[in-house]
Amino acid sequence: MSARKRRLAIIGNGMATCRLLDELERRGGFDRFEIEVFGEEKGGAYNRVLLGKVLAGDAPDAIVTKPAAWFAARGVRLHDGAAVRRLDTAGKRVETADGEAHRYDLAVLATGSQPRVPALDGILVEGGELRAGVFVYRTMDDCLRMRAHARPGDAAVVLGGGLLGLEAAKVLSDAGLHVTVVHAARTLMNAQLDELGGEMLERQIEGHGIFVRTGRTIEAVLGEASVEGVRLDDDKVLAADMLVLACGVRPRTDVARASGLPINNGIVVNDTLATEASGVYAIGDCAEHAGRTYGIVAPAWEQAAVLADVLTGANPQARYHGSKTYTRLKVAGVDVASMGRIDPELERDEVIQVVETRRGSYRKLIVRGTELVGAMLVGNTGAAAALVQALDRGEPLPDDPLEALCPNARFDAPACADRLICNCNAVPESRLRAAIAAGATSVDELGLATRAGTGCGSCKTELARLLNQAAAAPVAKLAAAG
Ligand SMILES: Cc1cc2nc3c(=O)[nH]c(=O)nc-3n(C[C@H](O)[C@H](O)[C@H](O)COP(=O)(O)OP(=O)(O)OC[C@H]3O[C@@H](n4cnc5c(N)ncnc54)[C@H](O)[C@@H]3O)c2cc1C
Repeated sequence: MSARKRRLAIIGNGMATCRLLDELERRGGFDRFEIEVFGEEKGGAYNRVLLGKVLAGDAPDAIVTKPAAWFAARGVRLHDGAAVRRLDTAGKRVETADGEAHRYDLAVLATGSQPRVPALDGILVEGGELRAGVFVYRTMDDCLRMRAHARPGDAAVVLGGGLLGLEAAKVLSDAGLHVTVVHAARTLMNAQLDELGGEMLERQIEGHGIFVRTGRTIEAVLGEASVEGVRLDDDKVLAADMLVLACGVRPRTDVARASGLPINNGIVVNDTLATEASGVYAIGDCAEHAGRTYGIVAPAWEQAAVLADVLTGANPQARYHGSKTYTRLKVAGVDVASMGRIDPELERDEVIQVVETRRGSYRKLIVRGTELVGAMLVGNTGAAAALVQALDRGEPLPDDPLEALCPNARFDAPACADRLICNCNAVPESRLRAAIAAGATSVDELGLATRAGTGCGSCKTELARLLNQAAAAPVAKLAAAG
């Protein structure tokens, strides 16, 4: 075998690439490959999930996961600020927008997603740019631009009442802006929550001082040089000094398309994450596997691990079989979890709901026989980890499924002794307890040891709870002995 390192080109320097590099390093991949990463965004890699922190005023560095020095220290060549135009898959060259060509033996497309921009009257100016004051919410630059534009007392309209829209709305409202969320569906977060869940969420969000208009959309963006307002489809005009578009994303397939690769919604890959072109793979938001694109981080990270196994030969038989998706997050200050079905599908599906109007909490299970097929929790997500586990493993629910909604009830203890605590990184409780036993004493140390909490961070309170429990254990034992 030749001793020459193979040239591995990675297109995109986002969250999937960041994880792929870690997975390659773990498997000795840096000794096998000469790696070049092409990233259109300037600077190192960052945790996109935490962009809300930068929008809220944190320094950009706070969310950087791999600064340029990380690449330099490992001999990985980072071309930052370099947009790739296409791959010449016959000649095996990466062609960048500035006209350069770089040879590769293997290439990975990890180009992510791009925000949908609806065709609203007045949204674009001549040249096809967004009108001043209109923003998308995808990159560090988007956040820095929004921050520079937003002033306390200004009016902001957010189009889209999904996760991203509500997150942006909360940050802007906390910064002192008058915020209205306009959402086309009848209720908020309708992809993850049923109508009652969406209504409960709306009430809580309004409680934070954010105005919500559901069942409405924007017809026109008004203003001359910069946005001054929006006209809704009921002809009402809302004053707006800024408009944030949060209307969903679509996979970025421009490089793949220019390279002649098969594309449906995303770049089509098989179970080894390979595209039809030999030596070209795709992972993350841009990839479509078995007819599905994901747009969230956990699948991207699972794909990165499989691809690293395949490319390094650590496990050539590794295959990606799709990801189960769960949503568990703090939406504009409200805890929300959603998994599986949001409404019953079959006549025999049973629905169990607990509504606490005063506490603003709503919990719902959809049960088929003894099996959980869907759950949603708004305002009280204590049962989420056990429910994810039950859904994931098809574990039977207790005879009284209501017990499954109470985290400390019988169901939680024996059946789910090894609950999944960090969904993004698939870290079970047992691994966290082992890390604590091995000396981890803080949430950060648990993250270093197990990766838990390093994705969306919504499990950090549970990590702290486990640490506190472990710290209290000797005292409890002593007290019992005394
Ligand atoms: C504000 C926000 C909050 C989010 N919150 C969550 C959350 O709570 N939970 C969750 O699971 N997911 C969340 N997501 C989604 C998550 O960030 C994505 O699923 C994840 O980033 C996907 O990783 P990726 O590497 O595929 O794409 P990205 O991270 O988008 O990286 C793709 C990179 O490729 C670059 N690129 C594209 N084309 C080219 C080209 N031609 N040449 C060079 N470079 C190129 C892009 O500029 C980008 O830097 C959130 C996203 C946003 C924007």
